[in-house]
Amino acid sequence: MKILNRSSLKLKNNLPYFEIPEWRTLDWVQHAFLTRQGGMSLPPYDSLNLSDKNGDLKNFVLRNKNIVASVFDFDSRRLILLDQMQQDQILLLKEPAITLSSPLEYDALITNAPNTYLGILTADCLPIFVIDQKKKVIAAIHAGRHGTAFHITGKVLRKMREEFECLPEDLWVALGPSIGSFCYEIDEKVFLKEWAPLSISKGNGKWMVDLARMNIEQMKGMGIQEEQISWINLCTHCHSDLFFSYRKEGRTGRQLSFIGIIG
Ligand SMILES: [Zn+2]
Repeated sequence: MKILNRSSLKLKNNLPYFEIPEWRTLDWVQHAFLTRQGGMSLPPYDSLNLSDKNGDLKNFVLRNKNIVASVFDFDSRRLILLDQMQQDQILLLKEPAITLSSPLEYDALITNAPNTYLGILTADCLPIFVIDQKKKVIAAIHAGRHGTAFHITGKVLRKMREEFECLPEDLWVALGPSIGSFCYEIDEKVFLKEWAPLSISKGNGKWMVDLARMNIEQMKGMGIQEEQISWINLCTHCHSDLFFSYRKEGRTGRQLSFIGIIG
């Protein structure tokens, strides 16, 4: 597994972001895990908030979207943002690209369509990208506690195989920043027994859970090897200067992670 940390932070036209270095060798795909910095929104959404569902002004959100699209040189109308229902529905978008109408009540998206950008919004939840470097298929996953419980990552990998004949050995996977296991305490009422091997019991009906490790286990269960996985191992709660954190701040923004097929 390739682990990235804060020292991997990059700047493009003064916009901070993370990327997986090996993925730059693919000329047909583009991706970035953005931070909360570099946008127009005011506190508590400061400043690169891409969600218009949490109380921020739509005008700021639109301007933030345009900043990202301009810096990374794509058409902001080609960025698909899901409604992210904390469930396990997967949107499949095969070429030729259709016009999508909202609501988009999904938590993952798979496509092979050119000039199509998939965005995931998070503030503690885990954004995951998958690339099939041979079939030229990409996927973006929103994996929070619910999605993880629904095995959304395993389901996306299975659907990639069913729909595009993606083979596990051709896949590259990246996990973005999310709340870390030392900061993510949940009540045992919502704790699943299967999580116990990767979790720590606090003994008072509370568990510390590791979203990233649980999703990595789902990937391994689908035949992905550790060397195919990259992980930006930064806790959104600990690094709240760099990332929005719902657990830390409550009312706050959502950072964007995007991946797209260049068209
Ligand atoms: Zn933390």
